[in-house]
Amino acid sequence: MAKRVIVVGGGIVGCLTALALSDKGCSVTLVERNVVAAQTSGESSWAGAGILFPLLPWMYQDAVNQLAMAGAALYPTLCERLLAETRIDPEYTQSGLQILPSFDEDAAINWCKNYQVPIEKKADGLLLPTIAQVRPPHLLQALRQILIQENVTLLENTQLEPLASCEKISSWRAISSSHSTGLILEADAFVVTSGAWSFDLLKETAAGLNIKPMRGQILLYENVQEKLENIIYSNGFYLVPRRDGLLLAGSTLEDVGFDTRTTEEVKQELQTKAESILPGLKHAIIRKHWSGLRPGTPDNLPTIAAHPSIQNLYLNTGHFRYGLTMAPESAQRVAALVCT
Ligand SMILES: Cc1cc2nc3c(=O)[nH]c(=O)nc-3n(C[C@H](O)[C@H](O)[C@H](O)COP(=O)(O)OP(=O)(O)OC[C@H]3O[C@@H](n4cnc5c(N)ncnc54)[C@H](O)[C@@H]3O)c2cc1C
Repeated sequence: MAKRVIVVGGGIVGCLTALALSDKGCSVTLVERNVVAAQTSGESSWAGAGILFPLLPWMYQDAVNQLAMAGAALYPTLCERLLAETRIDPEYTQSGLQILPSFDEDAAINWCKNYQVPIEKKADGLLLPTIAQVRPPHLLQALRQILIQENVTLLENTQLEPLASCEKISSWRAISSSHSTGLILEADAFVVTSGAWSFDLLKETAAGLNIKPMRGQILLYENVQEKLENIIYSNGFYLVPRRDGLLLAGSTLEDVGFDTRTTEEVKQELQTKAESILPGLKHAIIRKHWSGLRPGTPDNLPTIAAHPSIQNLYLNTGHFRYGLTMAPESAQRVAALVCT
């Protein structure tokens, strides 16, 4: 009989984990307290910029970069599959990344050589022409659709309650908008992919997991006259041109707990930075301003592992700043653990 697996959390990490487990022949249920791909306030995945590269990777340890680069390498095939099977285009685009001064150019050149990432020297910084992006809201819609087509059960508007200490999970309680008495969920294995909420979910069973929400805010411009060919990165700030002419400007890294509000102060700060790179943005329109809560971890490294003491519990969480990039690879890794 197929192994029954419950995946808890329907962001990019949960969706790709569910897909990887289903591809391996498991019978998968994905539980999400909201609706997958619905762009509800707080979740990180739809809110991300979609740059498939760690910004300034030479500043990170190898484990971060190896996971991110392996994840980025899986995107072309993943996006082809999603487009072919769902007709929803995640807009995988090799738009290139231009890094403007100031940064450690020698470290950058050495790192790119080591990781075989092509670079071109420009009058203004370095261009990495093969770096790609996706459009996160479209990517998540495509993933929701393919999961339905692959017979993954979606339990939406259903929230798992914090887990109590145990040796093995025989059942896990959930609150559901459609079941006034709540639900008892049973499976052979459970995978926590609950992003910034993972610590609250596991609480007394967190076993050293160190995850906290880190807010990021982004602006989306329309009516942009100056067209950018590449993603631009400058001193902790980026501009990302979308295929349809919209332009994304972000982001922030704010330690404000589970506060999902956007602020006028940050809006002005992002506008000033964006206009210093593209002065024409003064005349563009800000269509949207949003925030997301990244699952923050001390070294930007997620936990992809079997729980140290609970037999049938697995963790795939804490992807912090690069979860969109890392998720395809971390999903493969956790699926391999669950299926051994
Ligand atoms: C502004 C911003 C820009 C970013 N840009 C990039 C980028 O360019 N490139 C990149 O690689 N990464 C980027 N990221 C980071 C990336 O978005 C995250 O690392 C990634 O989305 C984390 O995915 P996740 O699935 O773990 O979390 P989430 O997307 O937050 O998903 C967790 C899900 O779990 C659900 N959940 C929580 N608790 C429960 C429960 N008890 N029961 C049921 N469901 C539950 C939540 O509702 C949520 O849907 C960015 C993030 C932000 C905020």
